[in-house]
Amino acid sequence: MERRFDATAKTEKELQALQLEGLKWTVNHAYNGSDHYRKKFDKAGVKPADIKTLKDIRKLPFTTSKDLQEGYPFPLLSVPMEKVVRIHASSGTTGKRKVLCYTAKDVDDWAEMFARCYSYADCTIEDRIQIAVGYGVWTAGWGFQNGCERFGAMSIPIGPGNTDMQCQFLEDFGTTAMCCTASMGLLMAEEINNRGLRGKIALKKMIFGSERASEAMRTRISELSGVSYDQLYDIPGMTELYGPGTGLDCRYHKGIHYWADYYILEILNPDTLEPVPPGEMGEMVVTTLKKEAAPLIRYRTRDLTKLITEECPCGSVMPMHDRLLGRSDDMFIFRAVNIYPSHIDQILSNIKDVGSEYQIVLFRKDKGGKDHMTIRVERAHDVHHSHDSDKHMRKAVEHDIKKQIMVSCDVEIEDYGSLPRSERKTKRVFDNRD
Ligand code: ZN
Repeated sequence: MERRFDATAKTEKELQALQLEGLKWTVNHAYNGSDHYRKKFDKAGVKPADIKTLKDIRKLPFTTSKDLQEGYPFPLLSVPMEKVVRIHASSGTTGKRKVLCYTAKDVDDWAEMFARCYSYADCTIEDRIQIAVGYGVWTAGWGFQNGCERFGAMSIPIGPGNTDMQCQFLEDFGTTAMCCTASMGLLMAEEINNRGLRGKIALKKMIFGSERASEAMRTRISELSGVSYDQLYDIPGMTELYGPGTGLDCRYHKGIHYWADYYILEILNPDTLEPVPPGEMGEMVVTTLKKEAAPLIRYRTRDLTKLITEECPCGSVMPMHDRLLGRSDDMFIFRAVNIYPSHIDQILSNIKDVGSEYQIVLFRKDKGGKDHMTIRVERAHDVHHSHDSDKHMRKAVEHDIKKQIMVSCDVEIEDYGSLPRSERKTKRVFDNRD
């Protein structure tokens, strides 16, 4: 299938040639342009000329968030300051905030990548795209906005929140696609349903950024909004790597196609830093191929995922990774077991009558005592309160958590709609153990 803004590489071999060229360029550029990188390379005993094949990437030292902190406010800068046309920063407290510089070409490359995302989501220039993510110093709004303009569809830069105005725009402007977090998507789907807007609006696509959406949540969004399930897309992205728009799952949803002509993705065992076998879970480590202002060389993202090894029916040469399991930073340790919130949402998604919203509460009954976990789940919207069905649901959750994660938990069943909804990311884990 021909897609606009697709890579020039049409075969794996062509793609690898582009990657090698980009890798050599990046290593030279960083070595010559950044004292920080040059010192790291010298310490690791590697010179740009040592990079002769793609496999040689393994000779290069890793970059971590510590490098970003050390270089604050303009870390990894590899061009003269006057070439920088924009900065973006991640949300987060001082010291943890990540600031990245962009040259004019970086901004342009990012728009190209993002335009490709709209193309993979089967958008056309006829689409009217309501961009309900934050505009500001962070990357979200700018990414969706510039990508939309580059792609050529009509953008409606509304930003997050304000459901009254969101609904009014859906009706008045004939919005066909909405970009938001999955939490906001659920909120909007509930509003669309409550206000009886289905049938009055033209919405047929949603693109979710920055937050994992569980199967249960996607199903619910689709049911309530009338947007077909296969038209719900996921855009991953992080500030360090331009921002959102570095990949997208196509309509077959076999995995997230990532733009391998802009960056190399390694999946490594986070403990040994050796590659895991294809299809196994590991940490995403990225190396950019064209980024000028702040190139990334083997940057450890802390995000966990796996490569998808099957081919996608869409025929794209762009490889795929799975949806992110979560950040290794989101992991919590409960009675010596490593648990990811996403693991719990996967389990809950498969239990009958359980809704999409949940909270995990960790606590101790007495100081220094044993850890306890309570999972609060909502009944699904069409399930009414009854002593028996609640008991059944409670047992099912306890049983499946015990079986799959090997820990015990208490379960509280709540009314549908009683757990908080959010316009941004929904907080799931409440760790009250200290
Ligand atoms: Zn595909």
